[in-house]
Amino acid sequence: MNLLIMGGPGAGKGTMSEKILEKYEILHISTGDIFRAEMAQQTELGLLAKSYIDKGLLVPDDVTNPMVKSFLEKSDHSKGYLLDGYPRTLDQALAFQELVAGTDLEIDKVLFMDIPFEVLAQRVTGRRICKECKAIYHITNHPSKVDGVCDVCGGQLIQRKDDTVESLNVRVSEYQKLTQPVLDYYAKFGKVKKINADQSIDDVWADVQKALED
Ligand SMILES: [Zn+2]
Repeated sequence: MNLLIMGGPGAGKGTMSEKILEKYEILHISTGDIFRAEMAQQTELGLLAKSYIDKGLLVPDDVTNPMVKSFLEKSDHSKGYLLDGYPRTLDQALAFQELVAGTDLEIDKVLFMDIPFEVLAQRVTGRRICKECKAIYHITNHPSKVDGVCDVCGGQLIQRKDDTVESLNVRVSEYQKLTQPVLDYYAKFGKVKKINADQSIDDVWADVQKALED
């Protein structure tokens, strides 16, 4: 089972990824991990990637795409894999499909964690974090016992600078601009499974399992 999981900031992608990996024991792939592994092993592509990163440049697609494929090929993907954060543009999706076409590395399903902006805004703007121990609270969904004070260590609870509607709006728009064409592309092949992420974690997880097993 080869999966791609997609979802904007705050859609709960991380939580579902953990559960999927635990239950289905598939290989977890993020481009960050791949870059680090290939650079550590000093592979040709790894060294090429490093030359860009050392100059503070983005690694171009013609290095990233073959690197993902090569990493998948040499890793144990017998039970499948979960791609996270790649492909994140239509160009990457097309190039990756061309590289893996006809092999056991083709993407089978795309899980799209869907959540309305208003719900996301409520989640993000209500978030509070402890200045000292970094424990996370939410003013309505998971409040501290004493307003503004951490239950764990008594530290002060603060709102992160990025946890505002304006900042969220920028992040969500940027994400959608890049990823909507990717979703549209996989939808043409009937691979997209839309998950309602505006539910309890247990309900989202139940829907994810249903989508993966049908
Ligand atoms: Zn604390």
